[in-house]
This record gives sequence, structure tokens and C-alpha cells, in this order.
Amino acid sequence: MPTDPRDVVEHLRYYADLGVEGFSRDRAWRARASAAARAAAVAPDPGAEPAPPSRAPHVTPLARSRVEALATVRTDLGECTRCKLHKGRIKLVFGTGNAEARLMFVGEGPGAEEDEQGVPFVGRAGQLLTQIIKAMGLEREDVYIANVVKCRPPGNRNPEPDEIEQCEPFLMRQMDVIKPAVVVALGKFAAQTLLRTTEPISKIRGRFHQVGNTRVMPTFHPSYLLRNPAAKREVWEDMKAVMGVLRGNEK
Ligand code: URA
Repeated sequence: MPTDPRDVVEHLRYYADLGVEGFSRDRAWRARASAAARAAAVAPDPGAEPAPPSRAPHVTPLARSRVEALATVRTDLGECTRCKLHKGRIKLVFGTGNAEARLMFVGEGPGAEEDEQGVPFVGRAGQLLTQIIKAMGLEREDVYIANVVKCRPPGNRNPEPDEIEQCEPFLMRQMDVIKPAVVVALGKFAAQTLLRTTEPISKIRGRFHQVGNTRVMPTFHPSYLLRNPAAKREVWEDMKAVMGVLRGNEK
């Protein structure tokens, strides 16, 4: 446990993001809490007595809604100056959508229109992504959309390793809060960052990779599809596999 009060606050927020409900000095409460956690980890017994309502007024609550937890991540990111990308940005593009989404898309970084609006995937590539989402039977509001880097790389150049390194912890915290069942990694930078690999996207796309409790499906970036429309067919195959997992009838 850290000793600097600012670090302690950060540490506790992190626990809250992970779903820890609170802390108590009361040994009996701690025993009940861990027994409840163990019970929750096994399949529910349909014949079992309903659990008594929990009474623990002495517990300091940490659990918050995912919306609040995401807002905390945004607050911690602040008016970020951790890397050089802040110098050229108009707006930081944090992410948008449903904090409880089962499906999350991760792109590379904002382009010019995203930088102006502060919203991910609103330019031409974004319109194509929106079409893909609709073709999956969903709306943008049903999913969560974010990027590996939150500020626009100048001239839409690739994000650099030091920029990704500074920004990635915030993407990981977004994923920790949202806990999506599936993350679609759009393009090389999202896929390589999430899977911690240097393999080319053409090699890793099209199959699920397990990252913690989340399945990551790397696929081609919508900008690549704008240049190579024939690759839409492969992306659609990847999205069909994603839909299979979300509907619980994956192969
Ligand atoms: N490309 C991305 O990777 N992200 C955006 O938000 C827009 C375009």
C-alpha cells in the first residue's frame, strides 16, 4: 500500500474500478465478504435460500457505477501533457459510447475531424466503422469506441512508441472499467498494443486472442478498407465471429 496520500487515493480508485466494494477493519465483515466472493464465483444453486440483505454500515464503500469509474479515468487523464502530442491537439479524444458495452472498438488515434470534435471515429473512416456497427445489428450507442492514443498525431502520422507508452495505461483502465466481452482491435497499432506483439496485422487478424477476461479480435482498420475495399469481406468474416461470441453461439 502506498503512503503518499495522492497515491493512496489513486490506489483506492483503482480497486473501485476493479469492483472492490469497500474496506473494513471488521474481521467478521472481511470473512463474510470473502465467503460471498467465493460463492459468487460458483454457479448459483436455483434451490438455494435467497441471501440475507447485507448490513455493513461500517464499510467504506468504493463501488461506483461504470459511468462514474470512467469519469474518474477521464479526470485522471486531465489536460494531459504526458507526451508531445498534446502540443498540436485541439481536443483530447477520450472515448465514447456505452460504459456497460459488451463490445468495444479500439482504433489508432484521432484524425483531423476527431481532433476538432473530441469524438472518436467521426471522419470518413468513422462513417465506415458506423456502417459496420449497424451491419452487426448495433448502434454506436450500444458499443464503446476508443483509441490507443487520445491526441491527434500531426499530419495523421503513426503514433510513436513513447506516445503509446504514455497513453496505453488509460486505455487499459477504460477496458478494466467497461469489461467488454469482446474488443475489436482496428489495425496494426491497436492489435499490437493490446496483444503486446510485433506480428503484422495480416498475420494476427481473424482469430480471437484472450487478454484477461476479454477476447480480442484484430481486424483491418477502416482507413485501410477505404483504400482496399476488397478487404471488407475479411473484416465482415471477423465481425461475424464477434457476433457469434456476443450471441453465445460461437464455434
Ligand atoms: N482513426 C482512428 O484510429 N481513430 C479515430 O478516432 C479516427 C480515425
